This record gives sequence, C-alpha cells and structure tokens, in this order.
Amino acid sequence: MDRQIVFLLVLLLTLLVFGFTVRKYSGYFKHTRKGFPVKQLGRRFGVMMEVAIGQTKIFRRPVMGLLHALVFWGFLVILIGSIEMIIDGLSGTERALAFLGGFHSFIMASGDIFALIIAVGILVFLFRRVFLHVKRFSGIEMKHISHLDANVALTMILLLMVSLLGMNTFYILSATHAGHEVVGLYPISNMFASWIDAGDHNEFWHQFNWWMHIGLIFVFANYLPYSKHFHVFMSVPNVFLSRLEPLGKVDTMESITREVKIMMDPDQAFASPPEGAEAEEEVPERFGIMDVEDVSWKNYFDSLACTECGRCTSVCPANITGKMLSPRKIVMDVRARMKEKGPGLVKNGTDYSDERSLLRDYISEEELWACTLCNACAQECPININHPSIILGMRRYLVMEESAAPGELNAIFSNIENNGAPWQFSQEDRVLWSEGKVEVPLMSDFPAKGENPEYLLWVGSAGAFDDRYKQVSVAFAKVLNHLGISYATLGVEESSSGDVARRAGNEMLFQMQAMMNIELLNGYEVKKIITCDPHAFNTLKNEYPDLGGEYEVIHHSQFLRELMKDGRLSLNGASLSGKKITFHDPCYLGRANGEYNAPREVLEALGSTVEMKRNKSFALCCGAGGGQMFKEAEKGEKEVFIERTEDALETGADIIATACPYCMVMMTDGLKYKNKEEEISNYDIAELVANSLNL
Ligand code: SF4
Ligand code: SF4
Repeated sequence: MDRQIVFLLVLLLTLLVFGFTVRKYSGYFKHTRKGFPVKQLGRRFGVMMEVAIGQTKIFRRPVMGLLHALVFWGFLVILIGSIEMIIDGLSGTERALAFLGGFHSFIMASGDIFALIIAVGILVFLFRRVFLHVKRFSGIEMKHISHLDANVALTMILLLMVSLLGMNTFYILSATHAGHEVVGLYPISNMFASWIDAGDHNEFWHQFNWWMHIGLIFVFANYLPYSKHFHVFMSVPNVFLSRLEPLGKVDTMESITREVKIMMDPDQAFASPPEGAEAEEEVPERFGIMDVEDVSWKNYFDSLACTECGRCTSVCPANITGKMLSPRKIVMDVRARMKEKGPGLVKNGTDYSDERSLLRDYISEEELWACTLCNACAQECPININHPSIILGMRRYLVMEESAAPGELNAIFSNIENNGAPWQFSQEDRVLWSEGKVEVPLMSDFPAKGENPEYLLWVGSAGAFDDRYKQVSVAFAKVLNHLGISYATLGVEESSSGDVARRAGNEMLFQMQAMMNIELLNGYEVKKIITCDPHAFNTLKNEYPDLGGEYEVIHHSQFLRELMKDGRLSLNGASLSGKKITFHDPCYLGRANGEYNAPREVLEALGSTVEMKRNKSFALCCGAGGGQMFKEAEKGEKEVFIERTEDALETGADIIATACPYCMVMMTDGLKYKNKEEEISNYDIAELVANSLNL
C-alpha cells in the first residue's frame, strides 16, 4: 500500500506540473490569430497515418530515416507498456494487462526488441551530434543551448531504454528464482538474463529499474514541453492539423477581400450577407505579421512541434547559396518570441507591448526578401510545418502596412496597377508577340459568331512581353493550330494574374487583379484554361476559386501529354537524336502541384533524358520565384540560378528543358554565366514539340 501511495503522489505531482504547462501554452494560443478551420477529419486522419505514423517523409533520407522511424514506432509500442506500469503502480498489480493473453505477450516482446533498437538508434544519433559535423545541425539559430537540449533529451531516452531492459531482465530473474511464471515474452531481456544474475538482489534491481523507468517517464513528460523534443507529443497532432491545400496555394486574406470589394463595388460590399451566410472576418488591426500575436494558431503550433532537425534549411535554395535565410530559424523565432512576449500578453491582453517585435528584433527584412517561396522547406519538413506562410505574412505586413518592399518590387506593383504586367509595357502591346508569326484567335471574336472556344490560352505577362518566352508562346500556339485545337486568347484584355504581387506581399493588388480577371473570364463563360506558365497555372487553379473563379486549369505539359495519350499528337525524336535532355522541374508545377510526370513523358517521347541529382520534389528552385525574378538577390556566396545551372551541367546533357518562363530566364542566364550557351541549349518543352513537328 505504501508503494501505491508514493506512486499516486508522484503521479499527481507530474500531472499538476503538466497541467500548469498546458494552461500556460493555452494562454499563449489565445493570443494568436484565427487560422484555417479544421474540417475533413477523415482526410486528416489519412494524412496523419501516412506522414506521422507511417513516417513517410522521414524516409526521404532513407538511412537515418529508417533509424528515426524505428525509434518512433518503438515509442508507440513502449507507450502501451508504460500505461500498464501506471495501472500496476496505482493498483499494486504486476503486469495488469496480462489478461490480454497473446496480445500482451506480443506487445511485451515488441517493446523489449524495440528498447534495444531505440537504444542503438539513440547512440548513433548522439555520436553524430557529438563527433560528426553534420551541416544541418549547425546554423545561426542553433545556439549552444539547442545542442545541449538535444543531447540531454537523447540521453534521457537512452536511460529510459536501459531501465526498461533492466526492469525486464531482473523481472525474469526474480520471477524465475521465486518459482513464479514469467508473464509476457522478452526475447532481448531473456538473453541478458542468461548473462547476468544478481542472486538475492534480483528483486531489488527489478524495483530499482521499475522506479527509474517510470520516474524518467514522469520527468521526461514535464521536460519535453520546454525542449525541442516537445515534438514527441506535438508531431502527430501537428500532422493531423496540417494544411490540406496544395503547397502552392496561398491563403486568401478575407479582410482584404472585403476592402477590395468595397473599392470595386461599394453598393454590393455594404449589402447585408444573405441569410445563413457566415459573417465575414472582422478587419484586423493590422495586415500581415509584425509580431507573434499576428501569427495564426497553426503557425504557433508548428513552432512548438518543430524538432529543429534542419531538414527544411538543408534544402532551402537561399540558405544553400549562403543567404541569411534559414526556414528553421523562422519557425524557432516564432517559438522564442512567444516565450518572451507570451506571459505579458496573457497578463495584460493583446495590446501589451514590450517595445520589441518578431519582425526586425528576431527576423530581419533581409531574411524575408531572400525567400523564393519555392516550398522546398514545407515539402521536406517531416511534420508538415509550413514556413512560407509565416514569411509571406511578414512580407504582407511590410508591404501593406509599411510600404517597405524593396524598390524593384514597388516598381512592379506600379507596373501591374498601370499596365497589367510587371514590366513597363503598354497593355495594348500584349498581342505583339504573335504578330506576323502565328495566327491566334481572340476570345472577343467568338460571341459574335455565337460560339465559344473549348480552351482559353492564358498567355501570361512573360509569354506576352519577355523576348525569349514570346518564342515559346509562338511555338505553343503553332502546335495548337497544327492540331486543330479549339482555343482563343484574351489579347489586350488579359492582365497580370497577380501571382507575383501576391508572393511579394501585395495581397491587395493580387485580389484586385484576380477579381478583375475573374469577371472577364466568367463573362466569356470560360471553363478550361491552358497556360505555359506554372505560376499562372497555380494561381488560376488553386487561388482564383476563393474569389469566385472556378476553372479547369491545365499546364501545357499536361495538355501535350494528354494529346499524346489520345493519339492526337505523335512525336518522334529524329530532330533530337543523339542529344541528351535534362528537365528542370518548375517549383510551381512540381512541388506546388505535384506534377512531375507530364513534362517527363513528353520529353521521353522526344529523346533520351537524364535526371539532375536534385529532381522532382527534391529539385532546387531556379531562384526566380517569390518576386526574386524582378529584384537583386540578397547577398550570399552565390546566386541560386548558378547553383541550379551547375546541377544541370553535371548531367552532361545537351539540352536543358524547362516548362516555365521564369525558369527559362534563369537557366539561360546560368548558361551565359558559365559560358556554356554555345554548347548547351535551353528550350521549353513547347519549343521541342514544335521543332519535332517541323512547325
Ligand atoms: S520557400 Fe524556399 S526559399 Fe523560402 S524558406 Fe522555404 S525553402 Fe527557403
Ligand atoms: S521546420 Fe520541420 S524540417 Fe525544419 S527543423 Fe523544424 S521539424 Fe525540421
């Protein structure tokens, strides 16, 4: 009975301290902003089983991934044994779940085996951390305390496993000596029991290890919330609460939608909402993220779940090329800032100020503007943390509250406002790309004929104005004409999709462009859109629906692949015989929308292909996204486009194939920088198809 009372007191103390921690964090959560609603529970459960329980993203790095996954799965099994220990501790029983028979034996045996696997895994992790210089474990955000914390937590896990094996081993010895039945199976501890025997002290060592194990669990449970190993608790729920939208989709700011609607149609905007409709979000005090109370609950949840593993930073093109940005730091800064400001917010309310802020005191403008919004960090994160949403939130604050965008971006904002394109060209010149080169039908000619084309070809600003990409627009239009596709363009009526404005933080300008375009597209009753530009593809497909524009949007690589499948397009590689092609994945086609195969299938029909070492979801950004195309890169050791061009050159390919206007510009610049433009060509897949058809 004494033992049970002591156990109960220890358990109550543990729960009390844990409850205090939960209360503290829930107070902080109350001072975050509304995020997305948690719906689609079935789908969320599937994502959780796949990513968290199945550990699928961890396996993107197979060797350490396997070790980490084994440790995680082992923890799940051992957890059941720990529940049994708590029941035993409270009720004074020994192996209380033994009545489960075979299942109990299975869990005990699995736990025993996993304890050894975890112990070995932890020793490997500790060795790597202490003796090997693994790049992703370092960085400006990785202070001495971060390393110490990791090592303390790993050592505690090691002791947990040692005490578990010790408990099982001395339980077997003690029960056997006393002539009692050994309940459960313990293959590893049986082996240890055959090597050691403490004679009369077996029961003492059994009890010692039992108390040490349960004591460590209690201490660990209260240490974790203050450690990077909080992810032991947080990672599974964090994955369950993941964003379910495609990576490329940016969340729409409803407060801005309301402002834009008022500007565009004041009568409509002030009309009362229809009965049953949800009331629109109140206009927040400021747009975007300036300090920690501006982040969403999910951003903060992400920051608590972060394992500081550095996988995000290790794939970040800005970080790889020596810029200040580290996505891991962004997430850790949110956590650190809340730790600093949270108590004041809880005590004094949301108006509390300590004269410091997340922006500038923690995260500099230089870090924010170095991001290409390529989503490699979010793709890589094993627990689905979304870093770009924080970066973009802070850009939104800089642009919409402080007008503090870099000068080049301010220039493109005015160009889009005045000319409908990021460049300083007149809207009237949008049709010049095709003049004298290819006949292109215009949408405005169709209503008079009482017809509607099947597809709208969205040319995009680069397709209409960029000298190199105009050739791609011409090539693709020739292919469409050759195959007799029913299509038309908007001509001078087309305007910037708003993609670049949105990613540069100007949500207001994006929504104005989007609403204007949607009105035009809906007026023409457009149903299907083809585009060569993955940025427009992503925006029209994923972001316009939030504002009332629902279309089937098809990237030209997908369209060409479908035509091949239907037998309407047959390609032969005669024009490219003997040439090797390597394909650079555009971020907004690949990672953002999961389309890796369509361009490859088209290219494989044209000639022999070779992959870069970083390809598909691992592909490195060209360096142009997120507004970078229009501004000077932040200082670093190298430009991103050079790093990517080096990937392409390493393959020994004769042709770098691209499927995006920005990638085309960057890879062409990279070839020039490397003095390789005479030897290696850069073509869009539309041009390669047009060439093979002799168009
Ligand atoms: S989106 Fe790309 S550039 Fe930006 S932080 Fe993530 S990996 Fe780095
Ligand atoms: S954000 Fe994700 S990938 Fe980056 S350090 Fe944290 S857990 Fe690792």
